[in-house]
Amino acid sequence: MVGIILEGVLFVALLATVGALLFFGLVRWTPLGLRLRQDANRRRLEQALELECPIHGPQRAEEMVRLPSGSRICPACFKEALHE
Ligand SMILES: [Zn+2]
Repeated sequence: MVGIILEGVLFVALLATVGALLFFGLVRWTPLGLRLRQDANRRRLEQALELECPIHGPQRAEEMVRLPSGSRICPACFKEALHE
């Protein structure tokens, strides 16, 4: 009984390992993987750009101020807008 369970568990582990290796190979050495990495780069740069104020430079995400309209501005710009 224990042998059958152990065999089942090992088989599932083997399948998971083969699947992970296949996925790694696919992502690492094929055009699809290149595309996925380039997409990830685009998202990363877009996020960085969203957090960068044209006047005050890069800001931290949790310091950004969300306006009632839904858009975000940097804290320094928000303070300046309040003091006008
Ligand atoms: Zn600013």
